Amino acid sequence: MCIILGGGLAMKSQHVEGKKRAPALLVIPIANLEEREYPFDFTIDADALELGSFYRGEISIDGSISRVASQYYLSGRITAEQIGECDRCLIETERKVEAEFSLYFQVSGDAPEVESGEESEDAGGIYRLRADEHAIVLDDEIIETLRLAYPMKNLCREDCKGLCSSCGTDLNKNTCNCSKGTIDPRWSKLEGLFPEDTELN
Ligand SMILES: [Zn+2]
Ligand SMILES: [Zn+2]
Repeated sequence: MCIILGGGLAMKSQHVEGKKRAPALLVIPIANLEEREYPFDFTIDADALELGSFYRGEISIDGSISRVASQYYLSGRITAEQIGECDRCLIETERKVEAEFSLYFQVSGDAPEVESGEESEDAGGIYRLRADEHAIVLDDEIIETLRLAYPMKNLCREDCKGLCSSCGTDLNKNTCNCSKGTIDPRWSKLEGLFPEDTELN
């Protein structure tokens, strides 16, 4: 993992509170940011963010943070390799995904009741930072973005034929004799010996 902030920014020890996951992994120090844009860049393993069931290997996060007065704007792009199992044929699937995120933070010096990172309901997705917070932690945002980027329906390909529900044959690779009208000629002599709805496996 690395972070690149231009302008010789000192990497001071972080003051991060109120997060469930400890220690925070994707931390952007903000104590000394001037009013300009700074690029950042992280690489982190999917397992470190507890996303190992859905993503594999390195997750890359590239973005920038800008400060204007007591507001911070972050935007970035996440690149990750999604893994799963085809809903129809159960083979392992993998695909590269890219997802974008953007975040606004507002330092609220005179609102001591506001918790760190709490999203204010009336401010259209602006997160509040206490005046004594010296870092922005991206962990939760990245995890949430990648969870949302995971498809509800996971197919190895759009026209996957799936497995035969009777005999389990992978219909992408083979055919089977389960469906009516496609009885193997070798079995045709047996036709009529069984009741109509008996399946020949
Ligand atoms: Zn499939
Ligand atoms: Zn079958």
